[in-house]
Amino acid sequence: MSAPLLQVNDLKKHFPIRGGIFSTVTGYVFAVDGISFTIEKGETLALVGESGCGKSTVGKALLRLFDLTSGQVVLDGQRIDQLSNSALRPLRRRIQVVFQDPFSSLNPRMKVRDILAEPIHNFGLLTDKADIDKRVGDLMEKVGLRRDAIDRWPHEFSGGQRQRIGIARALAADPDLIICDEAVSALDVSVKAQIVNLLCDLQQELGLALLFISHDLAIVEHMTHRVAVMYLGKIVEKGTRDDIFRAPMHPYTRALLSAVPIPDPDIKPNRIILKGDVPSPMKPPKGCRFNTRCPYVFDRCKSEEPKLEILGHKHRAACHLNDLPPDQNPMLNEALRV
Ligand code: SF4
Repeated sequence: MSAPLLQVNDLKKHFPIRGGIFSTVTGYVFAVDGISFTIEKGETLALVGESGCGKSTVGKALLRLFDLTSGQVVLDGQRIDQLSNSALRPLRRRIQVVFQDPFSSLNPRMKVRDILAEPIHNFGLLTDKADIDKRVGDLMEKVGLRRDAIDRWPHEFSGGQRQRIGIARALAADPDLIICDEAVSALDVSVKAQIVNLLCDLQQELGLALLFISHDLAIVEHMTHRVAVMYLGKIVEKGTRDDIFRAPMHPYTRALLSAVPIPDPDIKPNRIILKGDVPSPMKPPKGCRFNTRCPYVFDRCKSEEPKLEILGHKHRAACHLNDLPPDQNPMLNEALRV
């Protein structure tokens, strides 16, 4: 089996909190606290969880927008987490990003032609102006926009069209992996579906890998190969789409899934309402981080942190309930959908 395109090992990002007149470190925000995952060539991995769980920090860490606290990021067999900016420069082309907000992510003072030509020029992919113009036109068509619209300004496009331009800009660098950071969250429902379909088509056509960061499991279900569920800086469950959507083995995953609307009116969701708010990432709870909100919490959960245990070929979950015999596991005795 070939090595994965991206391998993340025990990634941590702790942001220092400074205070006092000497700006001394008084604590840390444990935004990402030891997560590991892989993405194969041409594969989509969805990273899901509530707002503030650390999933966007993972995306930024992979883009090396800041230094990691610890851990390894390996791209196509090469460690990139410790490379200097100059050594990293040629590799930056290979990981691109599409941001959430199609209105603020495009420079309003640049025409679309220049927005799309910039990465081509910066990464030295083409130098001849006619070649660049042709490539920019091709990119517009690839994302479903007219090639003669390249001399328009970003404000002349709708939100969905701007997100298409954002995708074209990511493609312009000829990447292997695109990080979609809540890339459809700000769009209307119908436009959301169009953009997701476009991403799926492009993935198949170009063999791209996608890291799809989202809080919206309804969108993820239709487009991902594998899912990793994050809670308070940790991955609490990961597996194939079927593992996560058909046989979730962590109470947090089940709570997230119970909130997904079901199109069939004959099926009633068994909605799991979590109590309380997500604890502060500055002071995560001892033991299992989910213990302050978990409907099945028991003594062991408050003292011992559960590890991600193997439940199936690619299925892993971090919950002490999975050590119990199935007939004594209260979570398994409650149907998700009734
Ligand atoms: Fe709930 Fe305990 Fe499992 Fe954590 S380890 S998810 S608190 S049952």
